[in-house]
Amino acid sequence: MTDNTATSSPLSSSYTIAKFGGTSVADFASMEKCADIILDKKSTRVVVLSASSGITNLLIELAAGVEVAERKALLNKVRNIEYGIINKLANSEIISQEIDRLLENIEMLSEAAALATSDALTDELVSHGELMSTLLFVELLREKGVPADWFDVRKIMKTNDLFCRAEPDMIQLTELTQSLVQPRLEKSVIVTQGFIGQEPKGRTTTLGRGGSDYTAALIGEALGVSRVDIWTDVPGIYSTDPRIVPDAQRIDQIAFDEAAEMATFGAKILHPATLLPAVRSGIPVFVGSSKAPEQGGTLVCAQTDNPPVFRAIALRRKQTLLTLHSMKMLHARGFLAEIFTILSRHHISVDVITTSEVSIALTLDTTGITNSSSSLLTNALLTELSSLCRVEVEENLALVAVIGNDLSQTSGLGAKIFSALEHYNVRMISHGASPHNLCLLVNGDDADNIVRRLHSKLF
Ligand code: ADP
Ligand code: ASP
Ligand code: MG
Repeated sequence: MTDNTATSSPLSSSYTIAKFGGTSVADFASMEKCADIILDKKSTRVVVLSASSGITNLLIELAAGVEVAERKALLNKVRNIEYGIINKLANSEIISQEIDRLLENIEMLSEAAALATSDALTDELVSHGELMSTLLFVELLREKGVPADWFDVRKIMKTNDLFCRAEPDMIQLTELTQSLVQPRLEKSVIVTQGFIGQEPKGRTTTLGRGGSDYTAALIGEALGVSRVDIWTDVPGIYSTDPRIVPDAQRIDQIAFDEAAEMATFGAKILHPATLLPAVRSGIPVFVGSSKAPEQGGTLVCAQTDNPPVFRAIALRRKQTLLTLHSMKMLHARGFLAEIFTILSRHHISVDVITTSEVSIALTLDTTGITNSSSSLLTNALLTELSSLCRVEVEENLALVAVIGNDLSQTSGLGAKIFSALEHYNVRMISHGASPHNLCLLVNGDDADNIVRRLHSKLF
């Protein structure tokens, strides 16, 4: 986010905001479940939606520029998902015209992408997923008797022009939300798009993959809501990804800093930046399943009683390791500063870092960006780094993080963790900077097994 702080006052403290993810709005039946949640929880006045499941990936493929036959096949898939929902609405005439107009735009932008692709074009194209899901959901809510209004989030979510990973301007968001959204909440439920924004010249941007959680948390903060509800496809945050470990345990309450650490280190259930606004403003975040709201979920709040030593294991795939060697580092000053200045100029944030006398190893996260994952390591960056030192790049690595409390003060931790990993190569270890994590960089193909072994050892 750009360097500014919100000046919000808690205006709407009796209201809550709800975000429904891609699987929650995947089809008509799933959308109905979301509508039932809104009908049930009258405090929900703002709703933030993702694109229907699968749509963002299809649009990203189209934005990469594909030849005509594949383009038609992809466009058909997009159309079928949208029409699967339209065909079940009672009054589909007007809404189908609006969706047709957006589908035509998608086709036109895809043709343009086949000629020349760009990050700006990618964001423009991809934003159509959220524009369509929100239009359809407003119609469905109205059919269920909920007074709902569609709202274009680009009127309030002003960002910089870092396409595919844009950073919101919180001061503008706060002012615009309070003037354009707040006054309407008494009369209707406002339905808006997650993930997308608008840069100063008026072009559409995106906040990076999974960014709808972040949108909801930011708007929630701007409105001073009493809770942010993240509705997804699992009934809460678990001790690890239940897709990898089916008997992972649900966490009923977790502190902001532990959950933020989980999200940062790859627990896909929350976008890594989601908890920043919540922490800043002390707004609790609830995570539950839109398919089974009766199962409850996880409450993320400022503090919990008796936080355990081991809380969770997170996994982040697609990690890139850069190793920089230079004899200039030997007894030298200022070398690290030079490296980090270059990385910062290229908008690269470094995750995990280790140093030796003449080398630095650092990992870059490439999972969150809307366009292709390789675009962080541009030729310009590599050329600049190579003028200072020898650069090695390793890909297909994964970061496994053990998340917990007082880890840096816990004796026997290393023995416990490494005894579970005796058959695996650990490429890099980071421990001690935060009391909440110990990170291991491992071969991408070993990652799932390592998570399973650690989970059975620690939980
Ligand atoms: P949405 O589309 O609703 O945003 P996501 O797919 O982004 O949903 O996030 C939900 C998924 O996060 C779950 O299906 C699960 O596989 C994954 N996940 C990863 N880590 C965890 C965890 N610790 N607890 C629960 N789910 C997790
Ligand atoms: N639709 C976007 C994505 O798939 C944003 C989101 O779902 O949060 O990444
Ligand atoms: Mg998500």
